[in-house]
Amino acid sequence: MGGGFAGVACAKRLAGESGVRVELIDRNGFHQFQPLLYQVATAELTSEDIRFDLSHLFRDSHNVTVTRAEVTAVDPQARTVTLDDGRTLEADYLVLAAGAQPSFFHTPGAQEHSFPLYSVEDARNVRGRILTILEDVKQRPELVDQGALNFVIVGGGPTGVETAGALGELIHDVLPHAYRGVPFDHAQVILVDAGPALLAAFSDQAGVYAAKQLRKRGVQLRQNTTVKQVDPDQVTLSTGEVIMTRLVVWGGGEKAAEVATTGGLPTGRGGRVSVAADLTVPGFPHVYALGDVANIPSGDESALPQLGSVAQQSGRWAADNILAQIRGSAPHPFHYRDKGIMAMIGRKAAIAEVGAHRHEIHGDFAFAAWLGVHMQLLDSIGAQLKAYVAWAQEFYLRPDHRSAELLEPSRIDSPRIDWDQKG
Ligand SMILES: Cc1cc2nc3c(=O)[nH]c(=O)nc-3n(C[C@H](O)[C@H](O)[C@H](O)COP(=O)(O)OP(=O)(O)OC[C@H]3O[C@@H](n4cnc5c(N)ncnc54)[C@H](O)[C@@H]3O)c2cc1C
Repeated sequence: MGGGFAGVACAKRLAGESGVRVELIDRNGFHQFQPLLYQVATAELTSEDIRFDLSHLFRDSHNVTVTRAEVTAVDPQARTVTLDDGRTLEADYLVLAAGAQPSFFHTPGAQEHSFPLYSVEDARNVRGRILTILEDVKQRPELVDQGALNFVIVGGGPTGVETAGALGELIHDVLPHAYRGVPFDHAQVILVDAGPALLAAFSDQAGVYAAKQLRKRGVQLRQNTTVKQVDPDQVTLSTGEVIMTRLVVWGGGEKAAEVATTGGLPTGRGGRVSVAADLTVPGFPHVYALGDVANIPSGDESALPQLGSVAQQSGRWAADNILAQIRGSAPHPFHYRDKGIMAMIGRKAAIAEVGAHRHEIHGDFAFAAWLGVHMQLLDSIGAQLKAYVAWAQEFYLRPDHRSAELLEPSRIDSPRIDWDQKG
């Protein structure tokens, strides 16, 4: 269930195994490469660049069927899943790999008025919104007084930091050439984060580096600050500050996909399914939960982070455990090979912590590490690496690179903004 890194890796490992039949169910029928979502949102890549058709990926795997459907319920006891077309499928092994969804932490108005960044559609919505705002400001410069050029990003984790950096660069390096007449000197990119340090999963120095790089890109920081309310035309912060804006990007947190909660499975932090060391759900030896939908024990108290490499490796491991169980052997505890953590704050400003001692690197080497890890992930879902390398070269060498096509609002069917709508 789920054609993300975990589901794809599991199905790939089981492909070609005799006596095994795999049904890979995904609501979209395509894999969406989340690590490059913000590049779509900020007009560096098209949505087609990061969307990979699952039927195509498994076209040569005769024992894998791809089904495009939404799973609406899971019954771990009966080992069945119910689909939105009314069918119920029964299996010997269930693999729950449905990923995550945004968590708005009950913030009033956030779900209705902010723009999350978790799917290709979300990324297109963000890009469409930015371009619609710019088109409107070009026609009516007075909209700047209503905060039209204020862009607010919520969350100081990798998603928020990367998006803020990319948006800062877009506004200062690219858009002034494409949207002449728009007063970009009035534009503000504001990152709001509840914590005292950015990139909390990294070291303290990494947070300081990220803050410095963001400020260099014109991003303003509001730290130790939460969002109290989002309205159509403004956002209210815990400090009492009210920022007029028509784009709030929500990178404030995530929780397990809805379907994880349907079968009475044991859940923990983030609503994620708690799994045993061998990735099975305690009490259900033939039910696995992997990747972002699961809390996977890390050896110490905490769970492994929500990362592409954790999802991918857990997918492969679960497949091996299933094959072992079919042969009558016991499944093995999952062993994660840590590739490190990394974030790209902007051009020539990547940060990575690699190796057993989390050695921290910045700049060109971190960019190379970032590229390498993403290439491996892309390769695993059958992407053409040539296209990716070409993009990376452009990105690195040319500050103003963007195809005019990507900055064309008519390419995106974005709703018009009602500038009279108030909170
Ligand atoms: C903006 C962003 C940037 C990121 N950047 C990085 C990065 O740089 N490096 C990194 O390692 N990780 C990054 N991550 C995290 C990484 O993308 C995730 O950890 C990874 O995608 C998890 O894989 P998964 O297979 O568990 O879930 P997903 O990749 O989310 O896949 C889940 C799949 O399940 C499908 N699905 C969900 N519910 C249902 C249902 N009810 N029925 C049918 N199908 C369903 C979805 O359509 C989706 O295809 C990023 C995440 C985000 C959101």
